[in-house]
Amino acid sequence: MLETTIALNNGLEIPALGLGVLQSEGSAATSAVSTALQTGYRLIDTAAAYFNEREVGQGIRESGVDRADVFLTTKLWMTDYGFDNALRAFEISTSRLEVDYLDLYLLHWPWPANWSQTIAAYKAAERLLEEGRVRAIGVANFKPDHLRALVRETDVVPAVNQVEVHPNFQQPVQVALHKELGITTQAWSPIGGVYSWAGENGSVPPLQNELIQAIAEARGKTPAQVILRWHLQERRSAIPKSVNPQRIAENFDVFDFELTAEDMAAIAKLDSGRRGAIDPDDATPEVIDLTIDEA
Ligand code: NDP
Repeated sequence: MLETTIALNNGLEIPALGLGVLQSEGSAATSAVSTALQTGYRLIDTAAAYFNEREVGQGIRESGVDRADVFLTTKLWMTDYGFDNALRAFEISTSRLEVDYLDLYLLHWPWPANWSQTIAAYKAAERLLEEGRVRAIGVANFKPDHLRALVRETDVVPAVNQVEVHPNFQQPVQVALHKELGITTQAWSPIGGVYSWAGENGSVPPLQNELIQAIAEARGKTPAQVILRWHLQERRSAIPKSVNPQRIAENFDVFDFELTAEDMAAIAKLDSGRRGAIDPDDATPEVIDLTIDEA
């Protein structure tokens, strides 16, 4: 039977499947989080840069599920990199969420042009880990060179690297490096949602892929369920976003069937090697121009 959690490199168990909340706004974010937790989800993935930490916190409280039973992730935005800035931003995020600790704190993007501040921010995360304010720390969007440099220059190997992974962009080299370093891969845009906000750029979104649709029909499941099951059978964490109660339930209903070795091999062949989103080397704060609120 497929395990519903994955052991991180510090022994902490992370639920394999969680809810993402990018672009979930206002009361829709609150009710998505609350509905998901009532459906059985135990992992919620937000970020300071999603501007919904307050609503996410409220959703957790409204769900009736104990805070202690929820695995809560938020992320530090680049303009808050640097040691003191990162510690301050952590306090702001946790106060917006109304929690006194996080389960996972991630650096949202590498910032190669400001590497010393990136490292200083990670060292602040190490401090928070030491103090018990976070239970695990990690990164997002770190390419192999960024990861190798980070591991060289800091003490705690990231527990997680959250990166773009879906059938069209499977990142085998990146994922193999995670395995080598003991880092859990967490897939963002796991069902290919990136094409809805970054443009399709000539790609067929995975949910519309004929092979995925044929497998879904053969297994009596939906394309989204097939893709999420593929992530889980690859022992990857995945955080599909939805604000729709039916789709929130659909995306969690993936533990009652199995993809065959042939299904898995066929999906592996869909990798185009082409990102849907920006290359992390180009994702500077000037390019992704956001102002994080001070409170
Ligand atoms: P997803 O692959 O999760 O797709 C989400 C999109 O698919 C939404 O438009 C949603 O619409 C729709 N959808 C959800 N379920 C279904 C379904 N069963 N059938 C058909 N359509 C469905 O993409 P995201 O880009 O949102 O990524 C997921 C999460 O990953 C984010 O929410 C965020 O938490 C994280 N992320 C992290 C990034 C990073 O830099 N670290 C970057 C991007 C994402 P609807 O809501 O209407 O159901």
